[in-house]
Amino acid sequence: MRILVTGGAGFLGSHLCDRLLKDGHEVICLDNFFTGAKANIAHLLGRPDFELVRHDVIDPFKYEVDQIYNLACPASPPHYQYNPIKTTKTSVMGAINCLGLAKRVRARVFQASTSEVYGDPSVHPQPESYWGNVNPIGRRSCYDEGKRVAETLFFDYHRENKVDIRIVRIFNTYGPRMHPNDGRVVSNFIVQALKGENLTIYGDGKQTRSFCYVDDLIEGFIRLMNQNETVGPVNIGNPGEFTMLELAQNVLKLTKSKSKIVHKPLPTDDPKQRQPDITLARKYLKWEPKVPLAEGLRKTIAYFKTKV
Ligand code: NAD
Ligand code: UDP
Repeated sequence: MRILVTGGAGFLGSHLCDRLLKDGHEVICLDNFFTGAKANIAHLLGRPDFELVRHDVIDPFKYEVDQIYNLACPASPPHYQYNPIKTTKTSVMGAINCLGLAKRVRARVFQASTSEVYGDPSVHPQPESYWGNVNPIGRRSCYDEGKRVAETLFFDYHRENKVDIRIVRIFNTYGPRMHPNDGRVVSNFIVQALKGENLTIYGDGKQTRSFCYVDDLIEGFIRLMNQNETVGPVNIGNPGEFTMLELAQNVLKLTKSKSKIVHKPLPTDDPKQRQPDITLARKYLKWEPKVPLAEGLRKTIAYFKTKV
């Protein structure tokens, strides 16, 4: 197949490009390089089955493709809050442009949604049937609400225009090619530990997240996209839940770092807990994560050692 990956030069997008090429497909990678990097896909440049296009998803694009994966959107809070209006536009216009193209060329189209659609959840763990607890006017809203509208658009194009959709709700994912300065907790802690700087825990560190290693996530993407049991949304994430204090201690142990832990103010609307209910992924995709946190952290630390 010929497959378009928007946001293909980013952390997840570049791993997806690798996997699709390995599976024998042709890939068109579209990216505006806001948070992505040529280094993430440099090893693919020059291949006859790989094309790179510098383009912004808010402007329309036309390619004859069989499948579209829409990943374009900054994912880390400091990056998506840098230009929040642009973030909402990216999610909304990006979804409209991908759906319009999918409708025209009859391609299957995949939306990278997020656990953030559950906001600060009052149901734990979060099943796909939970409608969420999202602040519509806060600092995280540009991202959360943008992704919620994208899901709405996907379902309306599906119902109204019979567009063939798939939606994944991604929970916190980590691994090689995360941006060292993107402000997410795993990259922050590893970079701080390797540099011997203080590990910055926001708030008391008792808030929880569930961390999925990138290879497991990409396997879930491929399975969701290439089955006909469900259009989604399907949660993909690792149900292993950790406090930020536990994560910091794990990173200190694995890096053998002497860094200290310090506390900084908790950002507003920071969700207190998050854990995916992956019953649907198990049922429809026969998917569950395989890489435990310590093993995934080891691989990620090895990557960051080459960067910092
Ligand atoms: P990332 O920031 O590394 O990648 C996003 C990519 O999209 C970058 O290459 C960036 O340059 C590109 N991009 C941003 N705005 C664009 C625009 N307007 N036009 C074209 N390209 C644009 O982040 P990531 O972690 O790889 O996330 C990829 C997708 O997965 C995002 O949609 C994100 O919301 C979603 N997601 C990620 C996680 C996670 O834990 N990594 C969790 C939930 C959802
Ligand atoms: N966090 C932290 N220290 C950091 C960066 C983040 O304690 O240096 C916390 C953050 O407040 C949140 C959790 O780690 O509670 C996960 O943050 P991240 O930005 O990685 O993801 P998200 O909040 O979007 O799930």
